[in-house]
Amino acid sequence: MVVVTSLRELAEISSLSPVFVPTMGALHEGHVSLVRQASRLADASGSRHYPIVVSIFVNPTQFGPNEDFSRYPRTLEADVAACERAGADVVFAPPVEVMYPPGDSIRTPALPQVATEPTLEDAFRPGHFAGVCQVVLRLFELVKPSKAVFGEKDWQQLQVIRAMVMQEQLNIEIVPGETVREPDGLAMSSRNRFLSNDERRLGLTIIGALRAAQRASTANEAEHVMRSRLEEAGIRPDYAVVRDAETLMSYDRSRAGRALITGRVGSVRLLDNVAWPG
Ligand code: AMP
Repeated sequence: MVVVTSLRELAEISSLSPVFVPTMGALHEGHVSLVRQASRLADASGSRHYPIVVSIFVNPTQFGPNEDFSRYPRTLEADVAACERAGADVVFAPPVEVMYPPGDSIRTPALPQVATEPTLEDAFRPGHFAGVCQVVLRLFELVKPSKAVFGEKDWQQLQVIRAMVMQEQLNIEIVPGETVREPDGLAMSSRNRFLSNDERRLGLTIIGALRAAQRASTANEAEHVMRSRLEEAGIRPDYAVVRDAETLMSYDRSRAGRALITGRVGSVRLLDNVAWPG
């Protein structure tokens, strides 16, 4: 496995139709499962081995002014070792000047129509998806992947990326990866390391509420169940909703649904979601 930081080194790999896993580092088993999935996709693509590229870049443009960009964990050495164990061929870990060269204006694509305005993450993190689309489009232009794997953990992001790929008419298959959880059900996240033991226990209320929602028979009842569970635990969610799984607008019984919760526990904003009905 090689670690590359420059566009010159990356160009040699991007001509080989890589399978791509973009990350912000501080890797955990959730990221590792995406890399393993990329590895299976690369093998399934025929006799040729397509390189698996993992990018590690904490993208400043997707953080708001009062968000945790400066305290976001950075653990490059351990991340490189994890990528190697998971079967990656290349880690692309560019410095910020390579991603956003001074004086160059890096295109921010027009936000896709789908999934960007359902008043979920878009409402609580204004500008976030503009930054995500900017960095992912830039990475796609540099890495030139044939396939890219994104986690279902960030469900709205996954739908936004799919919509962006359609809008920009990119020939890239977006492959979803299932959410990896701790044995007790907590969705793995790079930010979980900031939870105290008590906060971690409290954080489990979120998956408990989502699972209780899956047993409800209507979307309204499911939302009520989620809100009551969270309220009982003292968590005031940013949202606890059942929505259309693709557009994230109102739920419609004839289409797939998704239950999504985001709430703050201590200083950490936790996100999770499950299929609805289960
Ligand atoms: P991040 O480094 O947090 O930006 O995440 C990089 C990729 O890993 C995104 O596609 C996330 O959705 C995905 N991811 C994060 N947490 C998990 C998890 N627990 N299980 C599976 N994928 C995840």
